[in-house]
Amino acid sequence: MLKKLTERIYFLPGEKRTDRPYLYYINGDTMSLAVDAGNSKWHVEKFYHELKEHGFRKPAYTVLTHWHWDHTFGMHAVTGKTIASVLTNQKLREVQNWEWTEQKMREREERGEDIAFCNQCILCEYENLGDITVIPADIELKEKVEINLGGIHCVLEPHDSTHSRDSLFLYIPEEKVLVVGDSDCEDYYGDGKYDRDRLLDLIAYIKSFDFTTYLIGHDVPRSRKEAMDFLHSQLEMVSV
Ligand SMILES: [Zn+2]
Ligand SMILES: [Zn+2]
Repeated sequence: MLKKLTERIYFLPGEKRTDRPYLYYINGDTMSLAVDAGNSKWHVEKFYHELKEHGFRKPAYTVLTHWHWDHTFGMHAVTGKTIASVLTNQKLREVQNWEWTEQKMREREERGEDIAFCNQCILCEYENLGDITVIPADIELKEKVEINLGGIHCVLEPHDSTHSRDSLFLYIPEEKVLVVGDSDCEDYYGDGKYDRDRLLDLIAYIKSFDFTTYLIGHDVPRSRKEAMDFLHSQLEMVSV
């Protein structure tokens, strides 16, 4: 079910079974924008069905928060243009060449290129691995851009995070909303722990936004205080 955050921002909650992330929808006067493309075309279809039920148009843009499969494998099924950081597209071009058989997935896991949790969830989402389609985004961002949706703006900026090097942050000044995707999590493709310097940088970066609501990849919206308390609690743990 699509949930309402503000007059202009809605979201489809994530689903734990196949690690589907939250998908966000920002409704402008002239066009609308979605955050993340979901983990399959079925995830996109569910999202678009919900939008239709609410009388909303399909997004003109879909912005990717980072390259991980659960946020990007639905990209081939979205309408309009897709937007990603240069680093996200670089990684997606690599993933585009991956072969999808259980054997190849196991081999990538053994080489440390992919992780067991993702492979388990991919096998749950895709009954037929041949249905997996990976493509890069249409538009690559090197630096900050602002998109005017009519009555509401989205500021997109690539920035490093503790979760992945290619993170793209989205800020909506009119609503004081910051969308960070999975950015404040650990890097599961690395050692699965927080890197102290990257966490310090991330905290300073997030703090620099004038936000009251904080939207993440796999859980309900948080307040500024909840977001900052969480980040500081993680910092305390890596400091000792
Ligand atoms: Zn992720
Ligand atoms: Zn995720």
